[in-house]
Amino acid sequence: MTSSTTAPSRARATATGNFDVIVVGAGFAGMYALHRLRDKAGLDVRVIEAGDGVGGTWYWNRYPGARCDSDSYIYCFTFDDDLLQEWEWSERYPQQPEILSYLNHVADRYDLRRDIAFGERVTSTVYDDTAQRWTIRTETGSVATAKYVIGAVGSLSATNLPSIEGSHTFRGQSYHTSRWPHAGVDFTAKRVGVIGTGASAVQAIPVIAQQAKQLTVFQRTPNFCVPARNGKVDPDVAKARKAKYPEIKENIRNSYFGFELDFIMKSALEATSEEREAVFEDMWDRGGFDFWLANYQDMFFSKDANELCAEFLRKKIRQTVHDPVVAEKLTPKTYPYGTKRQPLDTNYFETFNKPNVTLVDLQETPIRRITESGIETSAGSIPLDIIVFSTGFDAMTGPIKNMNIAGRHGEKLADVWAEGPQTYLGLMIADFPNLFIVTGPGSPSVLSNMPVSIEQHVEWISDCIEHMEKNGIATIEPSPEAQTQWTAHVAEVAGASLMPEANSWYMGRNVPGKPQVFMPYLGGVGPYRQKCAEIAAAGYEGFQFVRSEGAVPVAGRAR
Ligand SMILES: Cc1cc2nc3c(=O)[nH]c(=O)nc-3n(C[C@H](O)[C@H](O)[C@H](O)COP(=O)(O)OP(=O)(O)OC[C@H]3O[C@@H](n4cnc5c(N)ncnc54)[C@H](O)[C@@H]3O)c2cc1C
Repeated sequence: MTSSTTAPSRARATATGNFDVIVVGAGFAGMYALHRLRDKAGLDVRVIEAGDGVGGTWYWNRYPGARCDSDSYIYCFTFDDDLLQEWEWSERYPQQPEILSYLNHVADRYDLRRDIAFGERVTSTVYDDTAQRWTIRTETGSVATAKYVIGAVGSLSATNLPSIEGSHTFRGQSYHTSRWPHAGVDFTAKRVGVIGTGASAVQAIPVIAQQAKQLTVFQRTPNFCVPARNGKVDPDVAKARKAKYPEIKENIRNSYFGFELDFIMKSALEATSEEREAVFEDMWDRGGFDFWLANYQDMFFSKDANELCAEFLRKKIRQTVHDPVVAEKLTPKTYPYGTKRQPLDTNYFETFNKPNVTLVDLQETPIRRITESGIETSAGSIPLDIIVFSTGFDAMTGPIKNMNIAGRHGEKLADVWAEGPQTYLGLMIADFPNLFIVTGPGSPSVLSNMPVSIEQHVEWISDCIEHMEKNGIATIEPSPEAQTQWTAHVAEVAGASLMPEANSWYMGRNVPGKPQVFMPYLGGVGPYRQKCAEIAAAGYEGFQFVRSEGAVPVAGRAR
């Protein structure tokens, strides 16, 4: 499958003018929002995107080994059957260039680029209560207004670069995995340091180790990795899946995590040790997210059940890593299994058996500073030519806060969220009328196969906007009570699980000073979808509408 990545022949869209809808971001979410609102709802839509191309995550994250961890047959749009039928994925987990090529194909197919202003970063988003419109300003000084704003800025798009003394003095090259140079990086004959051992690092480290002269991995917290078991897609399997996409769509939309995976409806503690071992081995052999998301149903909730899963994975690490001291350092012991984003690996632990790879445990020997020639820990200096920061993201709230949003009374969203995000359904915020968020905090978001959640949000938002336009409604926002109740519900569901126990980015604990709140909704993709649909069907229960002058009455609660 080929696809053009060239610039449009028409005049470039700008981030200037007055629109019905401004969508910020041109990843999966922004692209679908544009198609749906422009081509189905007939609205005047402008997308504003910081990058110079479509793709979002897959435009920015070009590090070696970058690929998705969701199975490709469901890591894609499902809104158009023809699109599903025509695209062929080569691997179970395609690499970044292939996913970007897919998203460029989507942009071509639906002629999206003509309404996307590229290279424009939104730096201010201010509501005018009198005009009932939003004004958006970008880094280059462009100004645009719209009745509706959709923050399709992604959950994992605000880079988290730790502040380490002396970073600017380093004379070699340094990169963050999420801002990788388009020309790539040549590690041949280089001494490379990778800081971080999260999901991106787990993908990158084995690939970098193949090329670098010497690789030093700086680990703060070891991770429970499970094998990806990537491979070419069998054409017969692909054909069979294409024949049953309607069923697959239903399955993933109504599932707990947006995958064709279900918990084992039994406690891990009820199974005999032989039965449990066989089940664990089977999930281990299948690879992918099975071990994480299709495990015994009490894995996320019972410490004892969780410990059985954790111990199985610890045993695998000890069997794989030859040096017992290194193996112990790589073995997680301080948090329950599954409470951090599950990394899928291809030879990650095996990489630490290579003679050119060294592990530095930052719990034992913390980084003191970066010097002009490398990294200094409490144990001494490590000379480096290249430093790779794989330190993740200011997840979920970071990209939204970076839009510098001010609501009806001039209140800043960053202040409103100072103690943690508050939303209704993860979709909207009280006192920020007509501002929608895609996969925001308080929705399943990063605890799901994200295209499934993105499609559901975009469709809910588009239906809502169409409803408003048809009924002459000027504004929508949640009632403060509905928002408070939903935020409490999100916390309650997370609190019943082991999730809050880890120093995870789900909890905001990777960013100094960030409020420690479990941000995604753990209530499940299917139940959440149903709840959103019921709320809309009941006249947008929990939301408040303001009618345009002379408009017809509407079903929702009008003020
Ligand atoms: C390395 C990596 C691997 C992943 N693998 C998976 C996976 O296997 N399965 C899965 O479900 N999810 C995965 N994800 C999550 C992934 O982010 C989502 O699947 C999906 O791509 C999100 O799409 P999006 O459009 O919501 O956001 P993004 O793709 O993040 O797009 C948001 C866009 O908004 C733009 N933007 C942000 N702020 C501004 C601003 N102020 N002004 C202008 N533009 C702005 C950004 O430049 C970006 O292009 C992965 C994420 C990463 C980083």
